Amino acid sequence: MTAAIIDGKAFAATLRAKVGELARAFEAKSGRKAGLAVVLVGEDPASQVYVRSKGKSTLEAGMASFEHKLPVETTEADLLAVVEQLNTDPAVDGILVQLPLPSHMDEQKVIAAINPDKDVDGFHVISAGRLAVGQPGFVPCTPLGCLMLLKDRLGSLSGLDAVVIGRSNIVGKPMAQLLLAESCTVTIAHSRTKDLPDVVRRADIVVAAVGRPEMVKADWIKPGATVIDVGINRVPAAEAGKTRLVGDVDYAGAMSVAGAVTPVPGGVGPMTIAVLLRNALVAAYRNAGLALADGTI
Ligand code: NAD
Repeated sequence: MTAAIIDGKAFAATLRAKVGELARAFEAKSGRKAGLAVVLVGEDPASQVYVRSKGKSTLEAGMASFEHKLPVETTEADLLAVVEQLNTDPAVDGILVQLPLPSHMDEQKVIAAINPDKDVDGFHVISAGRLAVGQPGFVPCTPLGCLMLLKDRLGSLSGLDAVVIGRSNIVGKPMAQLLLAESCTVTIAHSRTKDLPDVVRRADIVVAAVGRPEMVKADWIKPGATVIDVGINRVPAAEAGKTRLVGDVDYAGAMSVAGAVTPVPGGVGPMTIAVLLRNALVAAYRNAGLALADGTI
């Protein structure tokens, strides 16, 4: 048996096109573009790439992009002042502060300063609380993207056994909350879990968000299970001096057992920015008091 490949790249492209259509409709109704602000402190090369790509994607979706690039020596107080100015700017619907911040800043304090109604990353404690109690709010982009892929593949998730490997605040925990809200029976596994292979073998749905290359082996996977691989790990390639990306799952092995698997790259990765744009658009409709029916996007 060969598993189906879950094409996150294609799904993300469709989602971005839908966001673009709704962004045009938003502009027609409100007389302004939906706006996403991204704040970058310092010159971390990976963060610079992410911020550039978020800005470009925002413009492509027909939204306004506001980039604030601050020098690494910016004080926490000055960063908080920028966040406060964005909180009150009516042209800004979503605010994203690119992490990690330089070590002289308290990330939790900075995230807590973002207006929860503009918290498109979903990292604010109020966003986490809203997700936990089932109120409308913002959900972190990567796990929400994983859920979209799962529902597209499986339809109803009700009653399925789901195992999430990883308990970070940005992936594992919100992923588990989302699956619980879909009426899955959810197990959260982590670095102290005993007999992880046995735990994973129970799962109809496996979400791996660990950061360990190809840790999940084929014989951990229940035949027919749906496997979502969040991991992005750089490992040496066959060609000397080159590297390649692999996930947290042994992809070739999983393909011989599972029902469906996300590849790395081209699975979960492209979903993250697409969902960020989706969240910014939803923020714009909410902030402008315009209706966007549940399930529209
Ligand atoms: P993290 O380091 O914050 O969390 C890793 C989790 O894995 C921890 O909760 C830890 O308990 C668990 N863990 C570590 N070793 C383990 C083991 N041996 N067995 C079981 N569990 C173990 O990482 P994160 O931010 O949640 O990211 C996880 C992975 O997902 C990384 O590879 C990251 O690059 C990737 N990621 C991808 C995207 C995307 O857009 N596709 C977004 C975010 C993160």
